[in-house]
Amino acid sequence: MLLANWKTLIDSFSPQCDWVGIREYHEITDMIVARNGKPDPTNSDVSHGVMVEVLKNGQFAYCGTVNLTNSGVTAAFQKALKLADSCSEHKLHSFDAKARPANSGSYSSAAKQSIDSLSFAEIQKKLIDVTDHMNVGEEVIDRWAYARLLTTSIYFISSNGSEWTQNFSIVSKDFGVTAKQGNEVQNRSFGLNGLQTGLEDLDDAVLKEHAVRVGKQAIELLSAEECPSDTRDLILTPDQLYLQIHESIGHPLEIDRILGDERNYAGWSFISPEDFGTLQYGSELMNVTFDPTLPTEMASYRFDDTGVKATREFIIKDGKLLRGLGGIESQIRSGLDGVACARSADWNRPPMDRMANLNLEPGTSSLLDMIASTEKGIIMESNRSWSIDDYRNKFQFGSEYARLIEDGKITKTVKNPNYRGVITPFWNNLKMVGNKETMEVYGSPYCGKGEPNQIIRVGHSTPTCLFTDIEVFGGA
Ligand SMILES: [Zn+2]
Repeated sequence: MLLANWKTLIDSFSPQCDWVGIREYHEITDMIVARNGKPDPTNSDVSHGVMVEVLKNGQFAYCGTVNLTNSGVTAAFQKALKLADSCSEHKLHSFDAKARPANSGSYSSAAKQSIDSLSFAEIQKKLIDVTDHMNVGEEVIDRWAYARLLTTSIYFISSNGSEWTQNFSIVSKDFGVTAKQGNEVQNRSFGLNGLQTGLEDLDDAVLKEHAVRVGKQAIELLSAEECPSDTRDLILTPDQLYLQIHESIGHPLEIDRILGDERNYAGWSFISPEDFGTLQYGSELMNVTFDPTLPTEMASYRFDDTGVKATREFIIKDGKLLRGLGGIESQIRSGLDGVACARSADWNRPPMDRMANLNLEPGTSSLLDMIASTEKGIIMESNRSWSIDDYRNKFQFGSEYARLIEDGKITKTVKNPNYRGVITPFWNNLKMVGNKETMEVYGSPYCGKGEPNQIIRVGHSTPTCLFTDIEVFGGA
């Protein structure tokens, strides 16, 4: 796995620059898939290399390599040194070694059953069973299930005294069906969900229960009415709300995006630096934390990839925007408060601002309270589509499954549900926040950002919530 033998090289590089760090990254990704009661091809990848990071004349520069010999890593160092020299003439900001605080220690995911404790064939058998359990009627025409298993180790050492190791075990899973009757086709899925866990997450009894539900709901949707197009109260369950949090809180609050770093690629942000400490982002019931310290959430860690120690921080408190999602370099550049969130997706990428675990804190309402207090509403589950503008401000989301609420009671299922809004009015219409019993933890390994692109894991836990006066519509 890790070599973690870079101390001698760090000592030899150190006199030639203002600071130097080596980050070694080893990751195994296993993708195990089943379809319609049969195995699909399994895919397994290994990524192993080091990133040499140099600070000289106020400028950071990087060079990654898979040549893990002393001469290979020394060549990478020389290249990074040359880049730092040449780029320092055009630097945006002059950094010093305070941007890489010295920390040491270790971290391991809280996994009970290790990822290599079952063979691929045994895991695939579980997934085949899931596709069989979803086969609940002749209308079901396609069934799929997959598990994506990540085993990641990172070692970091620097010239100013950092030395740490982190080991991650991450299991993501999803499954779903397509059902068809006449010309009507509907999809229903469990919803992508990843956690820092072991194979205990692939519990056969739990998987079966959800597989049967997913199959039955797909068939139910075939004869459901279209979602109405009007303005009404909207209850979102965690399997939809987690993506709302990701897109409408996480991405707009990334400080590098606010500074313009992503402007010509993934867009800018409607947030400006003056909004921190003043903007009423949502209603007083809205409390959002950045928390990489939770044991099983997907993007937990002890140190970010600049070596900053992770802590839990309120991003939004009582609806007011307090701090941004910016790592130490963005904090220094902007003068804004941030969090330990500078992360890289692999050995060949530099760290940048990523949202990690971003969570909506629970409130006091039960789901029954929320339904009972709704005169004219709709409850939507499981994300199906999303769209958000370049400023991360106006959005439109679609869900897989919805039910109407009339006079405090759930009345009927509707298909093709969607809703739209503008971010701060939407979150200011947050009227009820679910209690701990309504909370679920979600995580995705597929958050994309940056040039060159970095696909990284994020976690979001959230209760079910009620929003008032939201524009909903069907058909899309
Ligand atoms: Zn994302």
